[in-house]
Amino acid sequence: MKILIASHNAHKIQEIREIFDLPHVEWVSTAAFPELGEVVEDGDTFEANATKKARELALATGLWALADDSGLEVAALDNRPGVYSARYAGEPGNHARNNARLLQELAGVKNRAARFRCVAALSDPTGRVETVAGACPGRIIEELRGAQGFGYDPLFIPDGHDRTFAEMGNEEKNKLSHRGRAMTLAKEKWGAIIAAELPRFPE
Ligand code: IMP
Repeated sequence: MKILIASHNAHKIQEIREIFDLPHVEWVSTAAFPELGEVVEDGDTFEANATKKARELALATGLWALADDSGLEVAALDNRPGVYSARYAGEPGNHARNNARLLQELAGVKNRAARFRCVAALSDPTGRVETVAGACPGRIIEELRGAQGFGYDPLFIPDGHDRTFAEMGNEEKNKLSHRGRAMTLAKEKWGAIIAAELPRFPE
């Protein structure tokens, strides 16, 4: 059985392969389908974007498709940047400029509470989609710390810890992260369906 992952990111694909641990599944990346254009992520929610990506890719290829959408929600900013996390400081998206803007907007702000969220969506080949969500609560610190990870990782300390995501290795981050949690739930929810190699979601 083949499942298309809506990502070009080899690291994300390897992480999903390891979490699902289903040897008969061939996970393929959208890089294998250069004729498919990028799906426009114009939804107001992570759920809408993940659903749209999974459905469009499944309908275009006739395969099962798994997509995810994620970002950072900051309480004092009314949950911004949210779905705009990648391009918070404008297009084209740039992590250093996004972090600088976040620090600027939070200058002097006492409430530093934030959370990463991730919604994973699985579409069957007929376009029927189910979703799961994962979150990781934490806080935004006042200066960048650490060199690993990506995006807002150097500014984010998950609750119950004293190091940023950028000061943790991948393995430690993935156990705590919004994406790791969503993918673990995805395995619990869909692992048996995928293992049964069904042609579509059961009614
Ligand atoms: P995507 O949906 O995985 O492409 O993530 C969208 C944006 O959210 C990224 O460009 C980052 O700015 C932010 N983001 C999502 N997940 C993470 C994370 O694990 N660490 C840091 N930033 C993240």
